[in-house]
Amino acid sequence: MLQLQNFIGGQLVPPAADRYLPLLEPATGQVFGQVPDSDAADVEAAVQAAEAALPAWRALPAEERGRRLVRLAGLIEENLEPLARAESQDNGKPLRLARTLDIPRAASNFAFFGTAAGHFATEAHVQDGVAVNYTVRHPLGVVACISPWNLPLYLFTWKIAPALAVGCCVVAKPSELTPYTAFLLSELVQQAGLPAGVLNIVHGTGPRAGQALVEHPGIRAISFTGGTATGAHIARTAAPQFKKLSLELGGKNPNLIFADCDLADAVRTSVRSSFANQGQICLCGSRIFVERSIYEAFKTEFLAQVAALTVGDPLEEATHQGALVSEAHLQKVLRYIELAHEEGGRLLAGGQRVYLPGRCAGGYFLQPTVFEGLSPDCRVNQEEIFGPVVTLTPFDTEAEVLAWANGTDYGLSATLWTRDLHRAHRLAHQLHAGVVWVNTWLHRDLRTPFGGMKNSGVGREGGLEALRFFTEAQNVCLKLG
Ligand code: NAD
Repeated sequence: MLQLQNFIGGQLVPPAADRYLPLLEPATGQVFGQVPDSDAADVEAAVQAAEAALPAWRALPAEERGRRLVRLAGLIEENLEPLARAESQDNGKPLRLARTLDIPRAASNFAFFGTAAGHFATEAHVQDGVAVNYTVRHPLGVVACISPWNLPLYLFTWKIAPALAVGCCVVAKPSELTPYTAFLLSELVQQAGLPAGVLNIVHGTGPRAGQALVEHPGIRAISFTGGTATGAHIARTAAPQFKKLSLELGGKNPNLIFADCDLADAVRTSVRSSFANQGQICLCGSRIFVERSIYEAFKTEFLAQVAALTVGDPLEEATHQGALVSEAHLQKVLRYIELAHEEGGRLLAGGQRVYLPGRCAGGYFLQPTVFEGLSPDCRVNQEEIFGPVVTLTPFDTEAEVLAWANGTDYGLSATLWTRDLHRAHRLAHQLHAGVVWVNTWLHRDLRTPFGGMKNSGVGREGGLEALRFFTEAQNVCLKLG
């Protein structure tokens, strides 16, 4: 049976206490491997390895660090197929999605930040006639990167790449539900020529391995992506040691469809933004607001396309929607479907668990589900479900839909569909969302800032924001003459 190991000081090593957790394949419900259930002893070893590697790594010219990260990107590309298969098996997502989104993006993360490393330098020099000032950006030191299960290698590398690019050493913990591709990355890291200890990967649960990592005094910064409640807990734990934090948290994203939009494009993209990755992307638009004059037309076409989605074995090419990540998560989503009924919603599509024949008989499948008739204030429209469940709501005025869009505790992303340029800008600036898409969805340029407002997070990742996060600015003021 597949047995994953931690990656510490350039070596694959078993967990100190020799404890493992089962690794389940969501599409079958079957155990296919074991992952270390690491604890504080493993975290200690990883932090020590990172501390030992730090002086040489940070002293390396940035271009040289960057070259190795670009090499790692190339190795990920060369191994696209096995990595995509591992991601699909571990997470339940369609293999096609892992091939076209997750793994290419993991390669891009290293290529982008590896290239950026050589361009990220001292910022403006200023001189007032008395003195000259310049800014030095020092790598923070040893940092922690903690990532969730929904886009496993994509988000794992999104954090690691900028940290390494600026000269930090990393102790990273992937989700215990989807650790397989992080484990496979260990081998590629060695091939790319990253010195031992520069990147360490500790597997295990949040409360045990994750908590030990957050508490460790050797960790100077924590880059975390995951649930809002976990983010709040990490912030409380990290505060007494004044650790720098980047928190990318949950969302309840609105999708605003105006009558003057390109309806065909809006419908097609909204189906994708509702159900891609089984609705388990923090950016999915789960609250769809449609201007009343086109509500029925939108609904008819949207439901027709939802009916054509195939829920199936993630390995099949024809599958649009694979398995949810775990039985526990499926049960949580099913409870929200019950709640939607209780809150007076009318079920328009789906609502049921799917039992597939054959290999996938024990898998965690759910129909794409659509409700209407729910108040924007109800729990189903306020709380993050993180599954294939969306609501449709008609609106009459721009002011009304803006209030509904902004009327949750979250503020991650928003999408709006309109051909009116003035409205697009006017609304984009008023939406409480860290990312606003106009007439598109999930289009990402890695140079742009990414992050959430309100309970969706603190700080920004992407481009210079990520490079700045992992460094500390120092002002040097030198008297002239
Ligand atoms: P989670 O918060 O349960 O876990 C995320 C990671 O944190 C995992 O590696 C977990 O082991 C670890 N963890 C849990 N408790 C910890 C603790 N006490 N100390 C340290 N680490 C701990 O989240 P999840 O269920 O894996 O992911 C789903 C959530 O992630 C959703 O809310 C989703 O919206 C969010 N998400 C946000 C973004 C974004 O960019 N804003 C992207 C993807 C997912």
